[in-house]
Amino acid sequence: MKSCISFEEYVPGIAIAKSKNFINLASNENPYGPSPKALEAFRSFSDLHKYPDPRYEELKQRIVEYTGWNFEEIAITSGIDGALETIFRFAVGEGDEVLIAPPTFSYYRILAKLSCARVVEAGRDEDFRLKNCHELVTKKTKLAIFCSPNNPTGKLEDFEEIKAVAEVINGVVVVDEAYVEFAEKRFPCMDNVIIVRTFSKAFGLANLRVGYARIPQIYLKAFKSANTPFPISTAAEKAAIAALNDLEWMKSCVDKIKKDREKMYNFLKKYFKTYPSDANFLLFKGGKGLHETLAEKGILIRECSQFGLPNYYRVTVGKEEENRVFMEVLECLLQ
Ligand code: PMP
Repeated sequence: MKSCISFEEYVPGIAIAKSKNFINLASNENPYGPSPKALEAFRSFSDLHKYPDPRYEELKQRIVEYTGWNFEEIAITSGIDGALETIFRFAVGEGDEVLIAPPTFSYYRILAKLSCARVVEAGRDEDFRLKNCHELVTKKTKLAIFCSPNNPTGKLEDFEEIKAVAEVINGVVVVDEAYVEFAEKRFPCMDNVIIVRTFSKAFGLANLRVGYARIPQIYLKAFKSANTPFPISTAAEKAAIAALNDLEWMKSCVDKIKKDREKMYNFLKKYFKTYPSDANFLLFKGGKGLHETLAEKGILIRECSQFGLPNYYRVTVGKEEENRVFMEVLECLLQ
C-alpha cells in the first residue's frame, strides 16, 4: 500500500435511507427524474453481452450541439467522479500540491490524498467568496480544482479568481460544473482549464454515471491514455443521447426547481442565515442537530460537518410538495 494512504471515505448525501417514505433532500438529485424518452432508450437496449463502442460518437455529437465545444475536445467519463479520477491519474503525483477551495465537494481532497499530494486550501470571505487564490500557486501546484456553482455553498465562483489561477499555474485547472444548468453563467474555455459536467443533476440520470469533459488540446493525449477504456455502458449512452434530444424536459425541471428555490430561500432566510444559490440546493446555518430532528419527521437534509461547516445545513430543492412538507415541519419545530 502507498505510505501516504489515509482511509477517508466519500460520504454520500443520503447515508441511510431507512425507509422509502423518507423525503430525501440530501443528495441534490433531480426529483422529477430523467426525460421519459431517456428511460425508454435505456430500456430498449438489450445487447448486454457486448462491450460498448468506446468512441461514443453520437453522444459526443449531441454534446457539441448542447455546449458549442469542439468534437475533438470532448471526453466521455464515468460521471464527474470518473473525470476527476482520470485527471488525478495523469496530472498529480507524490509531493505535488493540489489547490482546492473549501468548503467544497469532498472528493477533491480524497483524490489528492490518494495521489500522495499536499492539499493547499484557498481562502474565502464570510460570504464564501474566493480570495486571492493565485497567490497560493507555487511551482509544485499541478492541479487546482474549483466547483461552480459550488457545493455546498451554492454560488457561482468568481471567474476572475479562477482565471488568475489559470494564468499563473504550471499545471491544470479544473472547473466542476455539475450544477451549471441551474445557473446563469458558464466558465469560458481556456487553454489549460478542463471543464467537467454531468448528467447526474439537471438531467436526472445520477444512477447511470454519465459525465463529460472539455479537454484542452495540450491534455487530450494524457487524458485519453488515463481514462478508463469503457467509461459508460451503451444503455447509459443511449439514455444520455435521448436526454439531450429532449432538452425541453430538462429545462422544465430546471425552471420548476429555480422557482421553488426562490420560495425556499425566502422562507429559510426568515429564520436562518441563508445563502443565495445558483444551484438546486440551499445552504443555511441552523441549530445543532436540526438534521436529526428532521430525520425523525421523515425528512433528510445534509448536515455540513463533512464540509468543515458544523451546524450548517444543505437542503436540496425537491418537488413542490416535498418542499412544502419540509417548510411546514421546520416552521412547526421552530414555534
Ligand atoms: N461534483 C460535484 C460538485 C458534486 O456535487 C457531485 C455529486 N455529488 C459530483 C461532482 C459527482 O458527479 P457525478 O455523479 O457525475 O459523478
